[in-house]
Amino acid sequence: MFRKILVANRGEIACRVIETAHRMGVATVAVYSEADEQARHVALADQAVPIGAAPPAESYLKGDLIIRAALDTGAEAIHPGYGFLSENPDFVQAVEEAGLTFIGPSAAAIRAMGLKDAAKALMEQAGVPVVPGYHGDNQADDHLAGAAEAIGYPVLIKAVAGGGGKGMRRVDHADDFAAALASARSEAKGAFGNADVLIEKYIEQPRHIEVQVFGDGTDAVHLYERDCSLQRRHQKVIEEAPAPGMTPQMRAAMGEAAVRAATAIGYSGAGTVEFIVDGSEGLHPDRFWFMEMNTRLQVEHPVTEAVTGLDLVEWQLRVASGEGLPLRQDQIPLTGHAFEARLYAEDVPAGFLPATGRLAHLAFPPGIRADTGVRTDDTISPFYDPMIAKIIVHGATRAVALSRLNRALEDTKVAGSVTNLAFLMSLARHPGFRVGEVDTGLIGRDLAQLTVEPPATLPMQAAALLAAAAPPEGPLAGFTLWAALRRTLVLRHKGEEIAGVVLFEGPGRATVEIGDATLEAHRDGQGWRIAGTAPGRVLREGATIHVFGGAQGTFSFDVVDPLDRAAGAGAHSDVVEAPMPGLVKAVLASAGQAVTAGQPLAILEAMKMEHTLTAPRDGQVAELLAQPGTQVEAGAALIRLEETEEELA
Ligand code: ADP
Repeated sequence: MFRKILVANRGEIACRVIETAHRMGVATVAVYSEADEQARHVALADQAVPIGAAPPAESYLKGDLIIRAALDTGAEAIHPGYGFLSENPDFVQAVEEAGLTFIGPSAAAIRAMGLKDAAKALMEQAGVPVVPGYHGDNQADDHLAGAAEAIGYPVLIKAVAGGGGKGMRRVDHADDFAAALASARSEAKGAFGNADVLIEKYIEQPRHIEVQVFGDGTDAVHLYERDCSLQRRHQKVIEEAPAPGMTPQMRAAMGEAAVRAATAIGYSGAGTVEFIVDGSEGLHPDRFWFMEMNTRLQVEHPVTEAVTGLDLVEWQLRVASGEGLPLRQDQIPLTGHAFEARLYAEDVPAGFLPATGRLAHLAFPPGIRADTGVRTDDTISPFYDPMIAKIIVHGATRAVALSRLNRALEDTKVAGSVTNLAFLMSLARHPGFRVGEVDTGLIGRDLAQLTVEPPATLPMQAAALLAAAAPPEGPLAGFTLWAALRRTLVLRHKGEEIAGVVLFEGPGRATVEIGDATLEAHRDGQGWRIAGTAPGRVLREGATIHVFGGAQGTFSFDVVDPLDRAAGAGAHSDVVEAPMPGLVKAVLASAGQAVTAGQPLAILEAMKMEHTLTAPRDGQVAELLAQPGTQVEAGAALIRLEETEEELA
């Protein structure tokens, strides 16, 4: 076994790898960018080496600096985590040339699976079922159109170098083929520098089921499947193992195909073979097809760990250090059911806009697994993936595991940034999901219903008002002040103002008036009970009050200072600001142009996504304050609208 390894990653995966290494007696070296000096993975590691500025291209993608750090600290091997350099064969080669061990597959195996067309051809030869389609060299327009015709519509055009759903187009009619081909090619060229495409049969009601494999360079085993059909724009949201409706025949067929795929390329280490499955009539062993192989540990590997009781990072270290496969196929257990939900800093109602911010509070309930790279007070920075944590639960059956998932989400307390927690809770309660009727279109079909955020109830509003009005804690509290203290307050919640009057009538007794409603409040050992209900735990952080309402959701309220309010009235409604640091990709309006509320005015590229910034109201553009191509800070004014007469008056 290695004595010391370097972890070439950050966030939850770096922490997760470091924890297993330490449990195995292996020392660890972290690397970090300027943005991560105080990060959790740095604190966990035995040693840490700075490798550059915050943007990944200047730090976590700098293979040469990372190899240098490993050599300087005496690490013998490098664990790449996922993302960053994990599937870069040139990096693997450089690691090996430096006399170090790469904890993962060979450069050749990564290359073999790197392009979708070559991988499909290779898999076909190895006897692995591939989606019917064309993946040849002839890229002439009419040849590809002919191939689509022969396959039969609907078809999917895919970039051979694709990833993250880029360069992918569904085409339903021959008439639309030429236009879709042109746009897929240009997107692929822009994103991957390779415009080549392949054509596939479009599978209706598809399910994404992937098989975890493990190889030692000669032999391979599989660790069963994961169902990752709950996707939003091809991004996984909740994953589970086993796949709902899985039969022993189907599992055997998929497992054997995945093992054939791994052995065909002499695979070593952890890998995932992704299949697309036609789920329109249940699962059938002749209705699954190879999509691609990910030659690294996957984000969702913990569900496999939960149902097998194995530690995949331990397996990675053992195999990379020269041991054979720890278990034979028939020794690998499969027990119960597991789910993983991905908690993100993102604004769901705003179209899943990635969010940033300092986490005022982050706590997970006991008895579940939460993989995270951040703690209370840490910042979700704009430079990296905005995932806060993965919440993993296990139960004897799918129903038990799902009720644990619901409970775990309700008891997760996160404040300081907007998150997708309410969305995850809606998804975990979705009736189709509950009965295991999953397919990759589920989220898209029911998006409107899944993204409705529940309103803050009157007792929650009252709880926030009580916290805002609370007399100071301390020896004098409740002594001098209990002479029927009456306070009038205003809170702001989701752009709306909530005015209330709080009357403290005695220790632990109060009345809260909101509009026409009067709510009686009593304090007991668990906090305030308001109008007979327990609205949830309350956390005050400066001028912000968070109410953790469990199943009802988490709500944040800002205490409005009456003086600020008078001074700030109407301000900023005429300026379009960058919601986060990013690159101005396009400015869609010109000075003097009349615009209407909601009209797109600019496109900002931030956190690997494009965000459309819209006019806050009807009006006329007064001034463009940023040019396309400029990097801007959060809060930078980009476009100013003319003042309206009302504001001037
Ligand atoms: P990428 O590498 O860009 O992520 P994949 O080939 O992995 O692309 O496909 C991403 C997702 O697109 C899959 O998880 C599935 O939801 C959908 N998809 C892929 N191929 C097909 C197909 N032939 N028919 C229907 N949906 C597909």
